[in-house]
Amino acid sequence: ASGSDENDVVVIGGGPGGYVAAIKAAQLGLKTTCIEKRGALGGTCLNVGCIPSKALLHSSHMYHEAKTSFAKHGVKFDNVEIDLPAMMGQKDKAISNLTKGIEGLFKKNKVTYVKGSGKFLSPSEISVDTIDGGNTVVKGKNIIIATGSDVKGLPGITIDEKRIVSSTGALALTEIPKKLIVIGAGYIGLEMGSVWGRLGSEVTVVEFAPDIVPSMDGEIRKQFQRILEKQKMKFMLKTKVVAVDTSTDIVKLTVEPSSGGEQTVLEADVVLVSAGRIPFTSGLGLETIGIETDKIGRIPVDKRFTTNVKGVFAIGDVIPGPMLAHKAEEDGVACVEFIAGKEGHVDYDKVPGVCYTHPEVASVGKTEEQVKESGVAYRVGKFPMLANSRAKSIDDADGLVKIIAEKETDKVLGVHIMCSNAGELIHEAALALSYDASSEDIARTCHAHPTLSEAVKEAAMATYDKAIHI
Ligand code: FAD
Repeated sequence: ASGSDENDVVVIGGGPGGYVAAIKAAQLGLKTTCIEKRGALGGTCLNVGCIPSKALLHSSHMYHEAKTSFAKHGVKFDNVEIDLPAMMGQKDKAISNLTKGIEGLFKKNKVTYVKGSGKFLSPSEISVDTIDGGNTVVKGKNIIIATGSDVKGLPGITIDEKRIVSSTGALALTEIPKKLIVIGAGYIGLEMGSVWGRLGSEVTVVEFAPDIVPSMDGEIRKQFQRILEKQKMKFMLKTKVVAVDTSTDIVKLTVEPSSGGEQTVLEADVVLVSAGRIPFTSGLGLETIGIETDKIGRIPVDKRFTTNVKGVFAIGDVIPGPMLAHKAEEDGVACVEFIAGKEGHVDYDKVPGVCYTHPEVASVGKTEEQVKESGVAYRVGKFPMLANSRAKSIDDADGLVKIIAEKETDKVLGVHIMCSNAGELIHEAALALSYDASSEDIARTCHAHPTLSEAVKEAAMATYDKAIHI
């Protein structure tokens, strides 16, 4: 019913890009409808991504700490057990509370929510097959495509979400696999590998590239890999999967060196395919209105998020840029600001990235490799968590802070943090980058003691001068 009146803005997709765009549009006084086919708001991130993975990372960390660390803090008990259904239940409850929360925000901001799958009839008309079996046409002066991304499969491997799983299946296993093989050493693979490793699985990560998480600063990445290995995660780098055999109880994975060579057969109870994500536009009818996608399926847009069709915009995972929830949200806000006649702005070079393992690894700005390649003369300041009093006091001192600044001006170019809560610590660095701050600006900012954040200050001191505590 809602859809028959013309909207100022129609958003297709209710993920972090789409729902944030819808709320922002309504806040700016635009009549807004959001179409989502999943039956729940929050998209990949809330339903099968960021949120459930963080819930399980937290629960599994608690179990692992209870087993391996509590005693040395003088906390003892007879037995620690895993109740997997309860652990999954807590995750599911978190998801349903949060999705309902977004529905509440839609009501509060008067965003019309249409549950169904949208398809372009024209650049201003969307046909929606609703999830209750009906059909409605939603009209809008401006349409925002926020249909997100989907799991990227691998040729010859069929995902059944039971034994051969994507991240979605890995977030909902009903038993702890004895052996888990993770294909792909990116953020998602390492996070899910950590979850199941902490709960008792033997985890082997198979990666085609010579390094884990190639986007990470090289020095940080090397230390990170060593820490994960200490946690018993095994890595087979420069290795490709050539065949998967699921005909018996045990899954058999044939691998060989990336450059070719002798084959090995690995056995696993569960195989997680986490080789990346691809933009999702299937069934959207882009061809009807003449929107073309690039080689990897992304929708090209200009700085104002406009596609090649007037009045049709695109944001989030479906366009180029980091495939992250907070980037999708930034896109959403900026896109709607442009539609409302204001200015919007997103700087993809200053989007923080976080791997929520233990320790967490967070970064913003350039890696040392990227700075080197740009030819700019630079300085590096580092501070190990081992010299941070808070990290030492809680006996959780793996990691370091590394700051890269331009030599001539001291302007901060990149910050890389590996420690507990690095994902929280990174934001002072993000702020520093967005204000073009110098390492001295960070160092002369008074940081509370004792905090992990003092390591950021000390690394900044070490960038333009010397740290105190090392
Ligand atoms: P999506 O969240 O994918 O939402 C798109 C929505 O559009 C979907 O709900 C889909 O059902 C709907 N849709 C698609 N087509 C139609 C249609 N035709 N009609 C109606 N609805 C449609 N990012 C982070 O920043 N931090 C993390 O910690 C993190 N962890 C992750 C962990 C995992 C396991 C995964 C898989 C992803 C993770 N991500 C994380 C990535 C993050 O989930 C995505 O970057 C983010 O969800 C992208 O938002 P989006 O709004 O562009 O798209």
